[in-house]
Amino acid sequence: MTAPETLSVTIVDGYVDEPAHFGVPPYISTYPRYTAGALVDAGVPREQITYHTIDRLRDQPDQWRDVDEADLLIYLGGMTVPGKYVGGTPAEPDEVRKLAWTATGTSLMGGPVKFGVGDENAGATETERQDLDFDFVAKGDVEAAVYDLVENGLEGFSNRMRDVEEVTRWAQDGAFIVDQHPNHPDHLIAELETSRGCAYRCSFCTEPLYGNPSFRPPPSVVGEVDALSNHGVKHFRIGRQADILAYGGDGEAPNPDALRQLYSGIREVAPDLETLHLDNMNPITVVNWPEKSREGIRIIAEYNTPGDTAAFGLESADPIVQEENNLNVSAEECFEAVKIVNEEGGWRPGEEPAEAPTFGDDAPRRLPKLLPGINLLHGLKGEREETYERNLEFLQRVYDEGYMLRRINIRQVMAFDGTDMSDTGAEIANEHKKLFKRYKQQVREEIDKPMLKRVAPPGTVLPDVHLEYHQDGTTFGRQLGTYPLLVGVPGERDLGQTIDVAIVDHGYRSVTGVPYPLDLNDASMDELTAIPGIGDRTAGDLVINRPYDSVGDADLETEFDLAQFMTTRSLEHAD
Ligand code: SF4
Repeated sequence: MTAPETLSVTIVDGYVDEPAHFGVPPYISTYPRYTAGALVDAGVPREQITYHTIDRLRDQPDQWRDVDEADLLIYLGGMTVPGKYVGGTPAEPDEVRKLAWTATGTSLMGGPVKFGVGDENAGATETERQDLDFDFVAKGDVEAAVYDLVENGLEGFSNRMRDVEEVTRWAQDGAFIVDQHPNHPDHLIAELETSRGCAYRCSFCTEPLYGNPSFRPPPSVVGEVDALSNHGVKHFRIGRQADILAYGGDGEAPNPDALRQLYSGIREVAPDLETLHLDNMNPITVVNWPEKSREGIRIIAEYNTPGDTAAFGLESADPIVQEENNLNVSAEECFEAVKIVNEEGGWRPGEEPAEAPTFGDDAPRRLPKLLPGINLLHGLKGEREETYERNLEFLQRVYDEGYMLRRINIRQVMAFDGTDMSDTGAEIANEHKKLFKRYKQQVREEIDKPMLKRVAPPGTVLPDVHLEYHQDGTTFGRQLGTYPLLVGVPGERDLGQTIDVAIVDHGYRSVTGVPYPLDLNDASMDELTAIPGIGDRTAGDLVINRPYDSVGDADLETEFDLAQFMTTRSLEHAD
């Protein structure tokens, strides 16, 4: 029997990406936080709990010592939706195996990895359940398994789910673990859970494996935000739920009062928060309960921070695919939901909400408060060539009728055991690979780019862009938040810093920006020529004729009003 107070524990975060839960840096998922809380609750002293991300173990091989020497090694990870990530690289199955081999103490694996593992973290793959050589795999909630395992002197546990009282306690007790995240404190966003499970049963989705929705009451979530905020977290995403609008209701219909308690409570305990975003809203809720939904969306747009996205899982605009995969929303219904979110959440700071949706020359140069995103999934049962056309038609209609989408996410299915897709597997996705590639390019060119210009026109200011990597003489960065825009800033700037940026140009899914405000007396040639309408010659003239007393003194001749993001402040230092 091992006494809890003597245990040393190492938690390794291999990252998670589930349909309704994200945990690749700069995000920290709930798993390591709740697991740390369960350990503390079971009697393990905080100072004996070590937390590493898989990227830190890659970068600092000496840290593997903590894996080797711990009495208990806990691996958390699993990707049930595929993706490419800027902020971190999820653990590959071979690395996870190496963790188990390195550990000399007891080893336990948990998180969505319990649903299965593919050969690699990619779409159009089939998966199978494996133990990857760990002593234990938590088939229920890993935090409950950890608690019971420690209580049982590391002898074993029964698979179970945790209850609301436990999650409330563990979420608060485990908040301290964020101190050990490499991105702490400034470049870290905490994923918050408000519910698990789903009232619907889409064929490909792992969320129904959690059962019907069960909600955490507002004080449970708010208490967690308070604890995280006390540990320096300033960025939050309410992303761990299938449908934010259903929060606190009967599982399907909205309950605006609960939403208000949640959002206002968060603002009360974390008044200095810098990001409050969400993920996942079910369009069928918006269509079935339009008035309550409008109220709920208004509440969210009142308390959130700009640039927020309500991701809609349309998945397919083709009725045949909808039918065969038990999808719950038609293209027509989804269109109606897009319209409603635009009308209630599509306003920008500095204008009246009633004006939404706004874009064009007169709109304030900030991102809208809340816009819909669209998720489309390919390789589902019944998919045919026409499916691709239907999806394109849907997206084109949204644009043509004057609405905005913040993000279009297109991916191919991963088939998991326990979902209806497991028989079909990756077969259709593989057959349609060429078609998929062509269509994806078409969406990027014909929809994404014009839509991005509408959502974030030239001159739009993005505060606090974190500079993350260099590529071909450009520095790329993103704001913290839900589906942030990728911003390329000309020149190689120091990484790790945060700057305000004004958008000057658009790619398919990214934007070019210059530091905001751009000092005309100090701007580089690269920055000046990044502005559409300013070529090498004009930029050269601008530099030669420095200094300027005001932006108006410079002969810019550009198609849009530069004065809105330029300044001439450092006249005395100008060259
Ligand atoms: S509505 Fe469908 S896709 Fe969304 S969480 Fe529920 S089962 Fe999954």
